[in-house]
Amino acid sequence: MLKIRNLRAMIDGKEILKGIDLDVKAGEIHAIMGPNGSGKSTLASVLAGNEAFEVTDGTIEFKGKDLLELAPEDRAREGLFLSFQYPVEIPGVSMTNFLRVALNEQRKYKGEEPLSASEFLKLMRERKKLVEMDSDLTNRSVNEGFSGGEKKKNEIFQMAMLDPALSILDETDSGLDIDALRVVANGVNKLRRPENATIIITHYQRLLDYIVPDKVHVLYKGRIVKSAGKELAYELEKNGYDWIKQEVDA
Ligand code: ADP
Ligand code: MG
Ligand code: MG
Repeated sequence: MLKIRNLRAMIDGKEILKGIDLDVKAGEIHAIMGPNGSGKSTLASVLAGNEAFEVTDGTIEFKGKDLLELAPEDRAREGLFLSFQYPVEIPGVSMTNFLRVALNEQRKYKGEEPLSASEFLKLMRERKKLVEMDSDLTNRSVNEGFSGGEKKKNEIFQMAMLDPALSILDETDSGLDIDALRVVANGVNKLRRPENATIIITHYQRLLDYIVPDKVHVLYKGRIVKSAGKELAYELEKNGYDWIKQEVDA
C-alpha cells in the first residue's frame, strides 16, 4: 500500500524530515507517535502533496505508483485520505453537495459512471448509520460552526463515504471528549477492511485504547527512531518520551 524510503523534506530552508522509512500493508493500522515538533504533521502534509514542503530526497510508493509524481487531487482520487488536525470550513457548501462532487470525481477518475441521486442518498443513509453521524450535520455547510467533536465526526463520515485505500488521521483525538473519541474509533474500526489501511498520528495513547494498531512508530527529530507492536503505545503512556529522547540523543 505505502512504501516510504529515505524521505527527506524541508520548509523555509530547514530540514524537518531526515530520512523516513515506512512500510504499510493493506489491512494494517499503524500509529505514529512522538513528541511535539517531531515532524508528524509534516509527514502527513508531504504525503498529501502540500507544496509548502520541499521533498529533497527519497521515494514514496502508493499502490505501486510514484506518489511524488501525482498532483494532490490525484492522490485523493487514487484513494489517499487525510484528516487534518484543524479541518477547514467551507461556508455555503453543504456536506451533501461536497460529498456528491468528491465521490463522483473519484468515480470519473476510475472510469466509473457517476452515482444517481437515489444511489447517492442510499449510500449516505447507509454510511451515516455506520458511523453514527447526526443527520442535521450533513445538511449544514461543511464544518461551519461545528464544534471540534462534530468536525471530527464529520471527517470520519467523509472517510466512510469516500472509502479510501489509505486514511491518515492527524491528531484526530486532540480535544475530543470521550463520546466523540468513541465515535471516531468505532468509525475507524468499522471501516477497517483487508483492502485498506490507516495511519493514526497521535501524541497521546488515549485513542489507541479503542483502536488497536498493528504497529506503533515513534517519530523524533524527523526520523522514525523506534517501531514495535501495540505494547509500545502503553510503554509511552506510562513512561513518556524522555527515555526515547535519551536513547537517541546519547
Ligand atoms: P508535529 O506534528 O510532530 O508536532 P510538525 O510536523 O508540525 O510536528 O513540525 C515539525 C517541525 O517543523 C517544527 O519544528 C515546526 O516548527 C516546523 N514547521 C512545521 N510547519 C512549518 C511551517 N509551515 N513553516 C516553518 N516551520 C514549520
Ligand atoms: Mg504538533
Ligand atoms: Mg502535528
